[in-house]
Amino acid sequence: MGTLVRITIYSENAGPMRAAFRRIAELDETLSDYKPDSELNKLCRTVSNPVKVSEDLFRLLEASEKLSRLTDGAFDITIGPVTHLWRLGKTPDVETMTRVGWRNLVLDKRHRTAELKLAGMQLDLGAIAKGYAADEALKTLRRLGVQRALIALSGDIVAGDAPPGTKGWRVGLEPAGGEILLRNAAVSTSGDTEQFRDIGGVRYSHIIDPKTGLGLTSAIAVTVVARRGLEADPIATAVSVMGEERGRKVFERRVRKLIVVAPR
Ligand code: AMP
Ligand code: MG
Repeated sequence: MGTLVRITIYSENAGPMRAAFRRIAELDETLSDYKPDSELNKLCRTVSNPVKVSEDLFRLLEASEKLSRLTDGAFDITIGPVTHLWRLGKTPDVETMTRVGWRNLVLDKRHRTAELKLAGMQLDLGAIAKGYAADEALKTLRRLGVQRALIALSGDIVAGDAPPGTKGWRVGLEPAGGEILLRNAAVSTSGDTEQFRDIGGVRYSHIIDPKTGLGLTSAIAVTVVARRGLEADPIATAVSVMGEERGRKVFERRVRKLIVVAPR
């Protein structure tokens, strides 16, 4: 997932820790859009053919579709053709944009299949997979008897029970400032503060507005506290695209906390 993973646990032995890292590595193998032979990328080489996919992949595709509908396309994992150009410092042309659009990914819950309607589509789970991986690492730890744990994949953090004698894990918020006490909950931060590309003198965020195909140029940063990483991670990204006003309207009641640091 191209990032540092830090796991902190209260435990007599390191076995559960190793299992949690293994679970994250397994998800990376499945969900990566960098690795040519990930399950995700194999799916992307099919067209007009419903493909049976793993439970992990289906769960993320389904959650993503729901968010695309809810955000009127501001959150869109079919943005891959654009993000792959962005990584090369390029902006998309008209042809590239024809291969983007969440309605071209068709899911069948009963058969657990996914179908890509157009050739040359590319899915990118970069806005949702880290939160889910953190959730799954915590689930692995719990299954092995560890309840007090904190899992951090850069800006995506998931907490289990609090450290002994405390009310929660102290998590500092950047760039919002201050700190929160996190327990059995998740916090994610998105924005353009760290990852951007300079293209023709303009600073474009790695978060793309699917309406324009361009990286965000506003200096917005969004922090979301929710029950699970599977919610906090993509919602933070979605609100970055939608902006504070629309973002609050859609998500305020669906999350525990929504902090937006507006453009300077
Ligand atoms: P995050 O760091 O969680 O905000 O996710 C940002 C990543 O999500 C980017 O690096 C892209 O891989 C991907 N992405 C960019 N724009 C979008 C978008 N509008 N909807 C869904 N995923 C996106
Ligand atoms: Mg995200």
